Amino acid sequence: MKIQKNVSIGQFSWLNAKIYKNGGGKIGILYFPETKEELKDAVDNIQQSGKPVFVFGHTSNCYFGPNFSMEVAISTRYLMQYEIQANKVVCQPGVHVRKISKELTYAGIKGYSGLIDLPGTIAAAVFGNSGCYGCEAKDIVESIEIMRPDGSIQNLSNSELGFSRRSSALKRKEVIGVILSVTLKMEYGNKEELIMHAEKCHNDRKINQPGPANNLGSSFMSGTKTLRLRIMEKLVRELGIIFRLNSHQQFKILLRLLGEKKLIPYLFNLNRFMWIDENAHDMFKEYVSFYHKIYNNAKLEIQIFR
Ligand SMILES: Cc1cc2nc3c(=O)[nH]c(=O)nc-3n(C[C@H](O)[C@H](O)[C@H](O)COP(=O)(O)OP(=O)(O)OC[C@H]3O[C@@H](n4cnc5c(N)ncnc54)[C@H](O)[C@@H]3O)c2cc1C
Repeated sequence: MKIQKNVSIGQFSWLNAKIYKNGGGKIGILYFPETKEELKDAVDNIQQSGKPVFVFGHTSNCYFGPNFSMEVAISTRYLMQYEIQANKVVCQPGVHVRKISKELTYAGIKGYSGLIDLPGTIAAAVFGNSGCYGCEAKDIVESIEIMRPDGSIQNLSNSELGFSRRSSALKRKEVIGVILSVTLKMEYGNKEELIMHAEKCHNDRKINQPGPANNLGSSFMSGTKTLRLRIMEKLVRELGIIFRLNSHQQFKILLRLLGEKKLIPYLFNLNRFMWIDENAHDMFKEYVSFYHKIYNNAKLEIQIFR
């Protein structure tokens, strides 16, 4: 099995290495299994050593703080094989959601057309019930195979995964285990409509969202706007009409009115933090506390490792 030692977090993380001073923290040993057996062995080794088991796909949902280190971790990025059977697809955990979604959509399989640009791996999508444009992991997953802390292998059906908004029994730690494989459903739909939907989602993402670099998608998964935010937004919209301001100019004014001028370079919109430089670590803390002030019951979508 491929193993790397003393890997810097900056090298490993989805976010650009330039945000980490001297590369950031370290991963003592990083395993890159290429088969299910190797994945099981890696998990087994770590479990027997009594160390915590960290498993990652592309880390596109993970923010690692500037000093975060791990003694040992597993990357599933080389576990990318999948097998299309009569009415299901059996995937290794590191299968790219984008790739499989594109292939199935263009073959006329429903449930995947919104996911053709979703970053990350299939196991992580199950873990976080990832989704967009009306498609979600909960609707495409038939079952998974996991390795439990006692080394046993277990199959969990869709209903046993307890999917909820951007969460699952695994994410909530109601079930502990490493996903070894994911079986996806295959049900035929209207091919032309599915392709049209996929292309619409692709264009929408291109127009309305930043590129994949420097961010982890939506920072928060929930929250309702406070009265203060609603009033400020209304005021800015009115100013926008009077002074013919574009949405970017309006957003900058909104942040100034809310007293957060310093966050302007770090926000694409209120729910999208951009890690653009070393200062982003401090700015992210400020942003999280600001967001909680302008939204009630806000819950982070991204995972933070400090
Ligand atoms: C530009 C951009 C846009 C995005 N847009 C969206 C969007 O529209 N909708 C959305 O839902 N998300 C979005 N995201 C977030 C991200 O793409 C998803 O959360 C994705 O599913 C994460 O995949 P990953 O492989 O990078 O997971 P990672 O970040 O590597 O891992 C996420 C979690 O899954 C766990 N995990 C990974 N593999 C396993 C395994 N084999 N067994 C057990 N646990 C495992 C990890 O431990 C970790 O806790 C976006 C991210 C970016 C960067």
